[in-house]
Amino acid sequence: MANWETVEVTTDLLICGGGMAAAGAAVEGAYWAKKNGLKVTVVDKAAFARSGAVAMGLSAINEYVGYAKGDNTLEDYVRYVRNDLMGIARDDLVYNIARHVDGSVHLFEKWGLPIWTDENGKYVREGRWQIMINGESYKVIVAEAAKNAMEKAGFEILERIFIVGPIMDGDRVAGAYGFSTREDKFYIFKAKAVCAMMGGAVHVFRPRSIGEGLGRSWYPPFNSGSTAYFTIAAGAEMTNQEVRFIPVRFKDAYGPVGAWFLLFKSRSRQTCVTTWACWTLTPAWARCTWSPPRPSRTSPTSTRTMRRPSKRR
Ligand SMILES: Cc1cc2nc3c(=O)[nH]c(=O)nc-3n(C[C@H](O)[C@H](O)[C@H](O)COP(=O)(O)OP(=O)(O)OC[C@H]3O[C@@H](n4cnc5c(N)ncnc54)[C@H](O)[C@@H]3O)c2cc1C
Repeated sequence: MANWETVEVTTDLLICGGGMAAAGAAVEGAYWAKKNGLKVTVVDKAAFARSGAVAMGLSAINEYVGYAKGDNTLEDYVRYVRNDLMGIARDDLVYNIARHVDGSVHLFEKWGLPIWTDENGKYVREGRWQIMINGESYKVIVAEAAKNAMEKAGFEILERIFIVGPIMDGDRVAGAYGFSTREDKFYIFKAKAVCAMMGGAVHVFRPRSIGEGLGRSWYPPFNSGSTAYFTIAAGAEMTNQEVRFIPVRFKDAYGPVGAWFLLFKSRSRQTCVTTWACWTLTPAWARCTWSPPRPSRTSPTSTRTMRRPSKRR
């Protein structure tokens, strides 16, 4: 450490993290900062274009209210979240998310994200809130928009810098410190405002798995709890943190997503036999959550059909 260079960066808004939250903040922040003569800096521990929990792509957007089209009201969504979390939710925050989510989805589509639509041009839903996408390049598309917005405003996205903790000025966050994961450099960021957007925390509880299985998790293991540490170290109030999601695990699979889950949802003829096998092997309580797929015009499998396997066979 003796020969490490110390780099000091002064900015107005420091965005720590480079996932979906940070990319969104960068697009919005760059626009308003440029207008008001302020500076925005994004710092990511990885490569921005493919970093974060969406790095590998997603198959759906979990929340789309469809407010303007009259699909749901904002109150419907708040009620759903409150019920789902057994009353442990801040209605005002959930309402705020519901108010903005449709606009964000429309931006994703404008930036090039393919969203499935039916013959009437409506987004294809799975369940009441989720819409389906061809999302292999989801993060790349959103990161590109963020990069363009930052570049246009003359701001920097710094990659491969690991933020360790906040720099405090009394009880106020005045910046952050971290180190380069590629060079012998220690970083001091001085900022007027800081967004801690470094993702969730995996392995909060020790799983039963041992050896190689210990490292496997549904959420990316590189979501190592930096946001939680940063906010706790800053003495910030943390809210809506009471609910922990602990995915079901069974051999070689960590629900609710991934290859096994997609197999259960599969609609192509090729996997029909395997799906039928899975169906017969699945306990009755698990089966009742399965619903037959609905065809869509733009989905890659829409030209194929699959009948729901008969229980009698
Ligand atoms: C397998 C899987 C499937 C999913 N499927 C869906 C789906 O179908 N639909 C859906 O809507 N959602 C889905 N999600 C959830 C969605 O991906 C997340 O909610 C979302 O990506 C969270 O965004 P984020 O910006 O908060 O965090 P992340 O995307 O995790 O971003 C965290 C960022 O912070 C950076 N970082 C972390 N620590 C540091 C540090 N110390 N210093 C600097 N940078 C740091 C990381 O490099 C990363 O860029 C899925 C998630 C997973 C894991």
